[in-house]
Amino acid sequence: MNNLTQTTQGKEIGLTSCHTCYMLNKQEQSHCSRCDNALSVRHHHSLQQSWALLITAAILLIPANIYPITMLIDRGNIRHDTIFSGIAHLVHTGMFPIAIILFTASILVPLLKIVGLTVYLTAISFRLPISKKKLMLGFHIIEWIGRWSMLDLFVISITVALVNMGQLLDAKPAPAATAFALVILLTQLAAKVLDTRLLWDRLESKDDTH
Ligand SMILES: [Zn+2]
Repeated sequence: MNNLTQTTQGKEIGLTSCHTCYMLNKQEQSHCSRCDNALSVRHHHSLQQSWALLITAAILLIPANIYPITMLIDRGNIRHDTIFSGIAHLVHTGMFPIAIILFTASILVPLLKIVGLTVYLTAISFRLPISKKKLMLGFHIIEWIGRWSMLDLFVISITVALVNMGQLLDAKPAPAATAFALVILLTQLAAKVLDTRLLWDRLESKDDTH
């Protein structure tokens, strides 16, 4: 490692940044001098909290995919659709663009996010030799794509509204909708609660310059 890539951490020179307003404060202060938020050098429990939220989200992904996410009542006939059968139905009726949006938002994004966060947390917990730069980039991508998974709930609500306007059909969100919304919420929280400063402490490896 050459001089250009060497960094100094705030905690080494007695400083800590506020988690709310990012102001640098002296470590002996218990509260931020600007916003009065409680200060801590590192949130060591954040790793545990992040794991707990992530595991819960992964478990909830099962009911979200097994149970129906929408319920259509068409002239007395009740039709239940899971995420997968809903997409298959759209493909059969030739609505490819909506099928692609639904597949991306409800299967691809949540899965990528859970896999990505698992790799990220494993790297911190077990000190895997992956460069900090790569992990940080991965983390920003995870946070960014996660926002798009709300698109699915948006598509469902639009569908329900459009169908209800037709008067012939009646559509309602089914049990899996709750599980799915929780998966999205919990993965967002898992990324949010994690103190990324732990990454700089834990991942000291020789290939950090890559
Ligand atoms: Zn502050």
